[in-house]
Amino acid sequence: TGIYHSLIKLGIKHEIPTRPDLNTANFVLSQFPQAHLAEARIAFIDARTNLSVSYGELRRSIYSLASALFHGLEVRKGDVVFVLSPNSTLYSTICLAVLSVGAVLTTANPINTATEIAKQVHDSSAKLAISAPEELHKLVPTGVPTILTSHCSDGNMLSVEELIKGCCTSPELPQVPVAQSDTAAILYSSGTTGVSKGVVLTHANLISIMRLLLWSADVSGSQDDVFLAFIPMFHIYGLVFFGLGLLCVGVTTILMQKYDFQAMLDAIQKHKVNNLPAVPPVILALVKHARKATCDLSSLRRVGSGAAPLSKEVALEFRRMFPWIELRQGYGLTESSGGATFFASDKDAKAHPDSCGKLIPTFCAKVVDIEKGKPLPPHKEGELWFKSPTIMKGYLGNLEATSAAIDSEGWLRTGDLGYIDENGFVYIVERIKELIKHNGYQVAPAELESVLLSHPLIVDAAVIPVEDEETGQIPMAYVVRAAGSELSENQVIQFVAGQVAPYKKVRKVSFIDTIPKSAAGKILRKDLVSQSKYQLVSK
Ligand code: AMP
Repeated sequence: TGIYHSLIKLGIKHEIPTRPDLNTANFVLSQFPQAHLAEARIAFIDARTNLSVSYGELRRSIYSLASALFHGLEVRKGDVVFVLSPNSTLYSTICLAVLSVGAVLTTANPINTATEIAKQVHDSSAKLAISAPEELHKLVPTGVPTILTSHCSDGNMLSVEELIKGCCTSPELPQVPVAQSDTAAILYSSGTTGVSKGVVLTHANLISIMRLLLWSADVSGSQDDVFLAFIPMFHIYGLVFFGLGLLCVGVTTILMQKYDFQAMLDAIQKHKVNNLPAVPPVILALVKHARKATCDLSSLRRVGSGAAPLSKEVALEFRRMFPWIELRQGYGLTESSGGATFFASDKDAKAHPDSCGKLIPTFCAKVVDIEKGKPLPPHKEGELWFKSPTIMKGYLGNLEATSAAIDSEGWLRTGDLGYIDENGFVYIVERIKELIKHNGYQVAPAELESVLLSHPLIVDAAVIPVEDEETGQIPMAYVVRAAGSELSENQVIQFVAGQVAPYKKVRKVSFIDTIPKSAAGKILRKDLVSQSKYQLVSK
């Protein structure tokens, strides 16, 4: 039939249907291991401040904040709450309190610019924002009512910290029934084309991915695991793992506000971290620099890699250098609630260093011929399409983009070229969508092109990815200058840098007479990618 089914069954325990009115927060809270609550087991430790939060404290904070949001601030079902914060011990509390009152979570990278943030606040119709104090200035111009995460001495704004402290501990959550198809979160992704769009994830989507995570922990994890989290919780990878899912498993997570190589090594050693979900640039850094650094990585048992392709050479070198550490690659998209493939065993991962694992339970895939649109047999390369209970409802307020991404039978087009072998291992060969990934972060060429086009001396522009060993990819701009203009590469780079978050910066510029386009006016990115390869090699 051309359809690949997950070869792995969930097992009875994880197949139990959820109550139709169960919201994500109730699901997560119902999974907190009872013994953890009694034993004051630690859920989070802030790597910088050493502040820790037990499972019991976390539950109490969620109850209090939910009550304050519902009764005090009148946050209601469907209201969108915008969260702007780096990882912190309060992040999960905020997410779960918001979800528990049936409100909708939208998150953003705190290093985004005020303009980028305003766009998202507006697009998501956020009713309330919760912001780290140092990012508040970016939200002020939007006019959205805002509370701070933690108390700030030089102002009289409400903070989550104070709301939790000030609210008499509520014995239960406000009862807000939701339907499984109700929106739980809106995360932003550019998908296969165009600018960033709101990926609408429902309670059913998030509960399904939690169940899968619980199941995979049953296969290979344990409550005694200590995870390190520099992967941000504003991204689906961090949200599903650290913000929600691992709490169901009952692990302890050491939180880092942002990635820093030495701080990561120190935290691993100090807290005897055994699980490190990571991204390829971090695996590369470990391979390149861990030997020279003074660090003890003997506690590490497993390192994960996702969000971008991991090179086979780096994977092999990592295993050679750290033979006691399992290296498991996974693959997924915001549009599939984060997961799609993974390795259930290290034996499989070792034997298939260039694969990103097998379809996770409940997933079906098709590998579709990009010219003929026909499903392909094992080993043939085509676009990967997925179907599963975790696939997004659609892009917020954008029927056109939604129907371009999900067909009438519910198949999600990933924009990734790959193949599946006869044993069900999935291989990603190339990204055929426009998306650029820099250090695992999304950069949408269309967004940079519109910034470039706003320059008075730029007539036309196109942005493409250029492969980069350290960061995965960097954005490169092809620019058509106005006649007679002397605009320099550096001026273009500075112009864009002034308007976008640092990870989105254009890092190379080439001037060109015309941007190659199809008869329909679409930028022929492939031609530019080939041209850039030629240019960079012949330099
Ligand atoms: P995001 O929605 O930000 O998680 O980005 C999803 C995209 O990241 C996918 O469509 C892939 O292009 C890329 N990606 C994620 N994981 C992997 C992986 N293991 N190998 C190759 N590409 C990946």
